[in-house]
Amino acid sequence: MSELTAAHPLSAYGWDAGFADSFAPYAAQGLLPGRIVRVDRGRCDLVVPDGDGIRSVLADTSLVTTGDPLAIMCTGDWAAVDPARTGAYVRALLPRRTAFVRSTSSKRSEGQILAANVDHAVVAVSLAVELDLGRIERFLTLAWESGAEPLVVLTKADLVPGPDVLGHLIADTGAAAPGVQVLAVSAETGEGVDVLAAVLAGGTSVLLGQSGAGKSTLANALTGEQLQDVHATRDRDGKGRHTTTTRNLLPLPGGGVLIDTPGLRGVGLWDAESGVARAFSEIDSLAADCRFHDCGHASEPGCAVLAAVDAGELPQRRLDSYRKLIRENAHIAARTDARMRASMRRDWKLKQTAARHIAARKKDGLY
Ligand code: GDP
Ligand code: ZN
Repeated sequence: MSELTAAHPLSAYGWDAGFADSFAPYAAQGLLPGRIVRVDRGRCDLVVPDGDGIRSVLADTSLVTTGDPLAIMCTGDWAAVDPARTGAYVRALLPRRTAFVRSTSSKRSEGQILAANVDHAVVAVSLAVELDLGRIERFLTLAWESGAEPLVVLTKADLVPGPDVLGHLIADTGAAAPGVQVLAVSAETGEGVDVLAAVLAGGTSVLLGQSGAGKSTLANALTGEQLQDVHATRDRDGKGRHTTTTRNLLPLPGGGVLIDTPGLRGVGLWDAESGVARAFSEIDSLAADCRFHDCGHASEPGCAVLAAVDAGELPQRRLDSYRKLIRENAHIAARTDARMRASMRRDWKLKQTAARHIAARKKDGLY
């Protein structure tokens, strides 16, 4: 990170050279960058630079609409804000690097955007109950689909009797999470929390996982404060008085940013075809050797995936879980407007190419 970026008042909120690049045309127009820290009933709170510090401003989310439900502002978005307007006027949103989307329960399935520009998706899994690998795989699929890098955090490690058992649990989880880091933590003893904090120090994170997995406890341990429910005094007379007790996006004391929105916690699958492929990457590579390119890995001749199961190289449970998610995804996808999906996928490819480009430049020390 350059001196310039480190000195930026919004760097604690995740501002970096990549966002500064996308913001350049707006900076030239005298606009300010702002990050959305909360969205609630058509209003959003943003943090914008104010001298060497930051200040909060309030904006109306309806000001940037394109009719695309996924273009609606959400927590984590970066915006171009017009400081000359009374109340903050959001002119545009910067292109999103990643996005968490969930299916709405309405008849016509449409995605709803839950969080944007997330780098790390922490899948919290409680060690107080029996491991449910299928559930972990489902959350990992979602995480991969968003474009964020998943990480499994096994919580409540203090309840596990001994390091041997813990080692087995970590290994079992790892087998269901190829290419994903698995960490054990305990908010009770503090074990592993510093390691997690270090992993999350670079970028924006979200906590996913079942209710009771220990997400709130972990969020409190990471932020060092009690995250409470939202009790905002609404500005009914339009004079801009506004108190917020909670933001859904918080800078972490050790660096990095945590997004904790209630909606994200119950997130479901939504057109997660590429997420499934990433979450089951070993099956995806085996499938390249199946005789039929559209092999369903059920009873087809020349199926390399079934051959791996027979040879004891791939657990039957993994294949069953994979097929279940593929079926579920196909069902959801069939309900979704095909044109919208096509345009999203196009958009997505561009963004993922851009994200890879940025990552490569970072590695080369260009950022
Ligand atoms: P959430 O629903 O995912 O937000 O889960 P919570 O953070 O509310 O935690 C669920 C329960 O697990 C609470 O009763 C916590 O006290 C307990 N818990 C969370 N972290 C730990 C831990 O590290 N060790 C133990 N023993 N209990 C924990
Ligand atoms: Zn096959």
